[in-house]
Amino acid sequence: MKPKKLKQTYLIHYGEIGLKGKNRKDFEFQLKRNIKNRMKHREGEPNIEIKNKYLTLEIESTSQKETIPQILKTTFGIKWFAAVEALPRKSDLDTISKIITSRAHAKADSKRTFKISCKRADKTYTPKSAEIERQIGANIIAKTDYKKVDLTNPDDTYSLEINPTEIFVYDTKTPGPGGLPVGSNGRVLVLLSGGIDSPVAAHMMAKRGCSIDFLHFYVNEPGDDSKIMKLAKEMTKFTGKSRMYLAPYLHFNLGITEIDTEYELVLFRRFMLRIAEKLCMDNKIDAIATGDNLGQVASQTIENLNATNDALENTVCFRPLIGMDKEEIISLSKRIGTYITSIQPGKDCCSIIDRHARTKVSISKIIEEEGKFHSYDKIIQDTLNDTTPKVISPN
Ligand code: ATP
Ligand code: MG
Repeated sequence: MKPKKLKQTYLIHYGEIGLKGKNRKDFEFQLKRNIKNRMKHREGEPNIEIKNKYLTLEIESTSQKETIPQILKTTFGIKWFAAVEALPRKSDLDTISKIITSRAHAKADSKRTFKISCKRADKTYTPKSAEIERQIGANIIAKTDYKKVDLTNPDDTYSLEINPTEIFVYDTKTPGPGGLPVGSNGRVLVLLSGGIDSPVAAHMMAKRGCSIDFLHFYVNEPGDDSKIMKLAKEMTKFTGKSRMYLAPYLHFNLGITEIDTEYELVLFRRFMLRIAEKLCMDNKIDAIATGDNLGQVASQTIENLNATNDALENTVCFRPLIGMDKEEIISLSKRIGTYITSIQPGKDCCSIIDRHARTKVSISKIIEEEGKFHSYDKIIQDTLNDTTPKVISPN
């Protein structure tokens, strides 16, 4: 007879999805699908079940031991998760107390403090939470080396959660990234430069449940191991599968020769948004996002943002970093893991455009300047013809 394979169960709690009404099921299903996709092509098939306001993930205990927490920590929609021992709902307090006490034995130490935390989602279970905590706590003091309970700042916490169909016992609660599951809130085209800001903007849009595609304008066409492709790949751990549209700066650069360079930056910004809007229309993408931040550089004054945004006809452009401090953006970029790549040297077309740009360009003036292009529509079309999509996947 084959030995029975041991299973490890994870309890997964979501945050904001719990506030949803009738469409909660769609969000739960998307979360389940995203976790499954992230585990694809890895050892062991997980069994993920949607329960009443939580999910369970069951997998052979030898598989993906290291990778599962890494995946759950970066899956939007998850508030927290824990590796748990699942007990039948009918388990009585005595049985639960014995199990938690034997777990406590492993860490027990007379110098450490502990607490028991009980959550009864099923209020029909008796006794009440406070009494459960008191009884198990007393048992641990009596049977292990722990001497003291500390309810406010304990060294160790032993938790149990009583649900209508099962009871979970666990020691460590790990926070997830929060937000909504990617894919539950439309698709956004993020203008990705090689800098610090735009990857953070992509992260913030993905956190609100958007699927992410990228658009990058290049001087020299980036290869698969280029900085920009590396950045996009790094983000797939949060965003899942994405497309990267690589557009040449060349056609715009050839067309701009007769125009006053003071306006080039804003003209190029308008051009980028126009290309982005066309790609959105042709590829069922719902919105655009950039890493713009009010007042950070010349192109980001209110006047210049207005003059830039005016180029869009039917598509909203999100600027999720608009009110953040540079320090906050940098620390978020370090936390999501893109900072090191972002600060590597790289040739971005915005960095070769004259940086002494006008800080206050009116919409009427920029339209006048744009009128000086010989064949603006052709420049747009040539750029679109030379724009290539590449699939970027986390696996
Ligand atoms: P970042 O750190 O994201 O490069 P930044 O502070 O350097 O931002 P800018 O260079 O003015 O600011 O760019 C503002 C935004 O314009 C970027 O966040 C990005 O969304 C977009 N952008 C700039 N350059 C490019 C590019 N080469 N391709 C695509 N989008 C770009
Ligand atoms: Mg930049």
